[in-house]
Amino acid sequence: MPDFDNSYARLPSVFYTKLAPTPVKAPQLVAFNDGLAAELGFAQLSPEQCAQVFAGNEILGGMQPLAQLYAGHQFGNFVPQLGDGRAHLLGEVIDSAGLRRDIQLKGSGPTPYSRRGDGRAWLGPVLREYIVSEAMHALGVPTTRALAAVTTGEKIYREQGALPGAVLTRIASSHIRVGTFQVFAARGDVENLKILTDYAIQRHYPDADGPLGLLRAVCAAQAELIAAWMSFGFIHGVMNTDNCSIAGETIDYGPCAFMDAFHPGRVFSSIDHGGRYAFGNQPRIALWNMVQFANALIHQMPEPSQAVKDANEIIDVMSGQIQAAWLRRFGQKIGIHNAEPDDFDLIEALLTWMSETQADFTKTFRALADGAAIGPSDWQVRWSARVAQEADPETLMQSVNPAYIPRNHRVEEMITAALRGDYHPFAALQDALATPFTAQPDYAHLAAAPNEDEIVPATFCGT
Ligand code: AMP
Ligand code: MG
Repeated sequence: MPDFDNSYARLPSVFYTKLAPTPVKAPQLVAFNDGLAAELGFAQLSPEQCAQVFAGNEILGGMQPLAQLYAGHQFGNFVPQLGDGRAHLLGEVIDSAGLRRDIQLKGSGPTPYSRRGDGRAWLGPVLREYIVSEAMHALGVPTTRALAAVTTGEKIYREQGALPGAVLTRIASSHIRVGTFQVFAARGDVENLKILTDYAIQRHYPDADGPLGLLRAVCAAQAELIAAWMSFGFIHGVMNTDNCSIAGETIDYGPCAFMDAFHPGRVFSSIDHGGRYAFGNQPRIALWNMVQFANALIHQMPEPSQAVKDANEIIDVMSGQIQAAWLRRFGQKIGIHNAEPDDFDLIEALLTWMSETQADFTKTFRALADGAAIGPSDWQVRWSARVAQEADPETLMQSVNPAYIPRNHRVEEMITAALRGDYHPFAALQDALATPFTAQPDYAHLAAAPNEDEIVPATFCGT
């Protein structure tokens, strides 16, 4: 069994509320991540024990369950108190690589931060997060992980009616968010803001020098993260500051989706009416979120006017970091190892053509890697001349352009099947997405773009 070492639980008590998950009626393990369990030290648990522990019914020795406090900007509006309304941090373990990881249950019952919510999750979003977060990991994108999914044997009520309840076990480098800083900043609680800043530095960026050093490190991590999302056509959908991880991991998979047909204005989330979190807005929103992070950090600075100047410089640098990471990744997608600013036009020309022709994002880049003629003929001529200067562009393109992404229609189909008790589509998705860059003949249907009648145009928040 893993040794728990719960550093968050040792922070001042204003950071959280200690409380146990609410036990559920009849927990059943429906998914378990053996590889991750081995890394974390949970490999010896029997399936029956897993069901009990990862439903929140049984608390293992060393666990200290708590709900974390945070605030956040939701769609641009500041909410001074949010917090884990349906999640419990069970504790932290040091994994086999020596890294500290949070073990968190999501859907595990109400907390003092639940507001009007029931503290629960239904099976659909739990399986969606499980599949998509594990797919992101296999693609090489920093992300929280999924350890287990358990059905509760209880019904919960949503717009669609009565649905099976479920609990997800989520693993993260930490659950510290921009919103965690914002809650103390908004209260003028400088003492705890400083404690949190020191804690975050120690836990994630030990070389960072003070609050500005932390800001610089988080900006760099977020810049890389957003460029990685863009390079796979991923739309997070709810880039609120409470869903923005200080560790630079993708966190809180709600109405997220991977695009099929490319369009920079693409939105999936049914609640994102203004398109604030549209695909092409993600770099701008990441910068906006880091400005909010800077605003929160500044409350502890001795010379605020100088700090504002320094913070602005860091945000400007981040803007360049996003562009550089974007250029590097999209350059590689078209076979250029180290793209130069001069290559930007070549990439943009292809993307413009893709949006005009509604080309499938993933299939287009994969086809390019497989040697198909892509784009208008004048583009092909320019591109061929450019990649002639590169060593083995095909191998490079095949290593960065996946054959498989969790396509929205396949994820929805998987959920529909699971509701009938059929987990075959779940297993197929899991298997194909574990090695997304390798063509697998059995899974051709998972590589294909949706037919007209298969397109799932929107995703729902799924709370
Ligand atoms: P999210 O949009 O999932 O990031 O959630 C935003 C806030 O709403 C967080 O504080 C969540 O804990 C809370 N929340 C979401 N769904 C529920 C629910 N069913 N019950 C209680 N709180 C919830
Ligand atoms: Mg959230």
